[in-house]
Amino acid sequence: MLDLPIPSQIHGLIRTVSFWDVVDILIVAVILYKVYEMLQDTRAITLVKGLIVLMIVTLVSSLLELHVISWLLQKTVTLLFVALPIVFQPELRRALERLGQGRFLGLDQYLDVEEANSLTNEIDKAVFNMADKKIGALLVIEKNVGINEIIDTGIKIEGLITTEFLMNVFIPNTPLHDGAAVIRGKRLVAAGCYLPLTENRSLSSELGTRHRAAIGLSEQCDAVIIIVSEETGVVSVAENGRIERYMTHDSLRQRIRPLFVKEKSSIKFKDIIANWRKKDDE
Ligand code: ATP
Ligand code: MG
Repeated sequence: MLDLPIPSQIHGLIRTVSFWDVVDILIVAVILYKVYEMLQDTRAITLVKGLIVLMIVTLVSSLLELHVISWLLQKTVTLLFVALPIVFQPELRRALERLGQGRFLGLDQYLDVEEANSLTNEIDKAVFNMADKKIGALLVIEKNVGINEIIDTGIKIEGLITTEFLMNVFIPNTPLHDGAAVIRGKRLVAAGCYLPLTENRSLSSELGTRHRAAIGLSEQCDAVIIIVSEETGVVSVAENGRIERYMTHDSLRQRIRPLFVKEKSSIKFKDIIANWRKKDDE
């Protein structure tokens, strides 16, 4: 075979590849990509990069026959594979949870543009109505990381979101108003949930436990949390451990609308067409 010219070598190779080999390779490619997507933006990704470097060094040292170094590295890699599941137990648990919820293959219930717009409107109206009336509120919008542990601390609801319903949940001195409500797609799935408080000491002393609970959860997962202050009526949003205060109708809508829509790229395209139409109408 090696004596054959290169084109016939390739031809021979292609002939040995069956349809199922292609399917096999495609499935592995999709799985690897999904695993990469899941690890992206987590602390695990730096470790994966480190592991890859370590494996390359191991390979090179064994090729160069540096026996002692390659023996040492091989042992280290084996040890790391044992240590990894212990160190990354929380991440692994979340990944498995997402797998169980059908999130791994993107089977989430996202909304189309019209539905997302109307949901954004309902939430925006409720939030600023509560702000005007100084009704304290804490609204968690779940993203890709499942937060079933948080939902379990409250009371499950599963109700379609409307402005009236959201406001009703937070009316003072009613059983559900204390704690946080969780939004998953177009449903409010729980209320009265307990969120972990942040340990960040550099936060302004104006921020009490409601705000600290929102920041705390946002440090631990990718959820976006809306806070309405009972004392001041100020609307804030917490994400990735940071809080943005003094939200307006526009800034709030811009932050939450993209959380409900399906494909960022296809939406952008649809948005462009919708914008054109609007301009034509004007
Ligand atoms: P506000 O500006 O509305 O007064 P704040 O940040 O000053 O908010 P507190 O006055 O301490 O905070 O608000 C207390 C309320 O925040 C509680 O009644 C409860 O509803 C909510 N809250 C406090 N801690 C948590 C928590 N860990 N998880 C969920 N909700 C919480
Ligand atoms: Mg307070």
